[in-house]
Amino acid sequence: MQTDTSPIDAGRAATAPGTVWFVGAGPGDPELITVKGRRLIERAGAILFAGSLVSESATRWAPAGCVIADSKDLTLEQMSAWLIEQAGRCDTVVRLQTGDPCLYGALIELVQPLDAAGVAIEVVPGVSSAMASAAAAVESLTLPEVTQTVILTRVEGRTPMPEGESLEALARHHTTLCIFLSITLMGRVTAALTAAGWSPDAPVVVVHKASWPGEEKIVRGTVATIQALCREAKIVSQAMIIASPTLGARQWTTLAKSKLYDASFTHRFRRGITAAPDGTAPTIASQETP
Ligand code: SAH
Repeated sequence: MQTDTSPIDAGRAATAPGTVWFVGAGPGDPELITVKGRRLIERAGAILFAGSLVSESATRWAPAGCVIADSKDLTLEQMSAWLIEQAGRCDTVVRLQTGDPCLYGALIELVQPLDAAGVAIEVVPGVSSAMASAAAAVESLTLPEVTQTVILTRVEGRTPMPEGESLEALARHHTTLCIFLSITLMGRVTAALTAAGWSPDAPVVVVHKASWPGEEKIVRGTVATIQALCREAKIVSQAMIIASPTLGARQWTTLAKSKLYDASFTHRFRRGITAAPDGTAPTIASQETP
């Protein structure tokens, strides 16, 4: 009988057979896994990790006797068969995925056969490489009065882009673009940005292996220069392309400030102060956040 009442098991039937947990391993730095993900690894009976992208060190917390397999040479059918077999054998099976499992992770393709086999599944989010890349470059993906929108996308490779989602069409919004899986197609990226009206001088940053200890590379350029700069830096894989009107804001001298921290703005946690019209005693502002 299962006696573990840790939060990990909260909400799941005590008698449930093995559960397959799709765990976001984070972008590379083994410390960027969530506490919950790490605790699952610590009690896993079996772990299937995406070896081409997830550092094997992410499995360092696995207990003795845990069966650890690399999925890099397996087909989806072989992976689901492996997960189903392990769920029949042990309580906690972990499918360790790079970044967040819900982004470009073949999540549903693996969940469907598990559903069909009656195996319970759970998903634990992870730090996506889009977030880790922004952090590495100290860039904010949103800025007041610049852009308040982030588009996570890719250019068309072997996976076709659905109608209306060409990079050119998305880039016309002039929001932040985090472009996955596209470093070898950089020519297409810059052509799409140009066709969408981005200036040749518009900044673009590429982060290779964001957060991987000792392996991270950050290349800053423009729509006109980024392709050659990435070629020079020999970046051909595991890279995030960020194109955004917010890039470089750390050096800007005029920056619209977030309303949330404005001294005159009242919200749930703080009452705003405004100067009286005659400039004398301050009064409490009445504006509330929506
Ligand atoms: N689920 C993952 C994305 C998997 S698709 C996530 O949330 O990050 C793989 C693509 O993610 C790569 O082609 C690259 O564009 C990006 N990527 C993954 N790890 C990265 C890293 N450490 N640094 C920069 N880009 C990375």
